[in-house]
Amino acid sequence: MIALEQVTVARGGRVALGPIDLRVRRGRITAIIGPSGAGKSTLIAALAGAPITSGAVLCDGVALASRAPREWARTRAVLAQSAERPFAFALSDFVALGRLPHGDREHPRAREIVERSMRWAGLDPGRFAQRTVDTLSGGELQRAQLARVRAQLHGEGPRWLLLDEPTTHLDLPLQHALLERCASLRDEGVGVVLVLHELSLALQWADELLLLRGGRALAQRAASEVTSEDLTECFGARLAVVRDAASGLSMVTVARGASTAAANPQRQQGETHDDRSDDHR
Ligand code: ADP
Ligand code: MG
Repeated sequence: MIALEQVTVARGGRVALGPIDLRVRRGRITAIIGPSGAGKSTLIAALAGAPITSGAVLCDGVALASRAPREWARTRAVLAQSAERPFAFALSDFVALGRLPHGDREHPRAREIVERSMRWAGLDPGRFAQRTVDTLSGGELQRAQLARVRAQLHGEGPRWLLLDEPTTHLDLPLQHALLERCASLRDEGVGVVLVLHELSLALQWADELLLLRGGRALAQRAASEVTSEDLTECFGARLAVVRDAASGLSMVTVARGASTAAANPQRQQGETHDDRSDDHR
């Protein structure tokens, strides 16, 4: 378990996150959702071990601040929010970067892990191993990043995967393919924490949602228990959760009159009808 205890992070003289108390568990997918500027990236960074201003971040009871960075890097992998393109690395060398904290990059075993990780991420090593990273499409690059973190997390024991908006450059089927891979890691016992803007995707794949607004946690709930009211409060726009009992699918959409509602959250709250009675849960 990673626990945040009364954590605050100040950026440029103001509080970007907190004070916040929170627990995330292994063997689960936890989605962090919230409007732009809510502190989602700051939270992912804090979970990854970036410096915090006050409070404590504990992993299985041990303060992250007291763990050797290299040891922690064997345990957790991070896919940051970044539009940056890595330079002209051969893809297999790029994926092998995931083995750096393990110190076995030159070992024959690492080559096998790299190939397996590429296959797992949907990249055929025969076709892609020697392609340079700067020639990849957005979706291929995302899969390369995923292969890199998969290689990093190859092994046993407690492991964490932290992803910040990993679906941004992917088309819808690829978004689901990525979440499916996150779910397979979750099923291996990895704790997956990710920032998602696609709320329908979060409801469909995450076990738990953490709703963030203004640096504070509004709620942490099982995905099946998140309501239209929760999302409306979080985003300040009138959002509706639609659940289909037959397929078990959920989606989130903007309700009619949402722009008026967003401009006037007081009024909007009074007007939001309670749709829990016709939810099929
Ligand atoms: P999110 O990922 O939810 O969009 P961030 O965690 O990136 O939000 O940012 C949270 C808040 O901290 C925002 O108000 C943002 O403007 C502010 N912030 C982030 N980085 C810096 C920085 N380097 N200097 C000043 N303010 C920052
Ligand atoms: Mg962000």
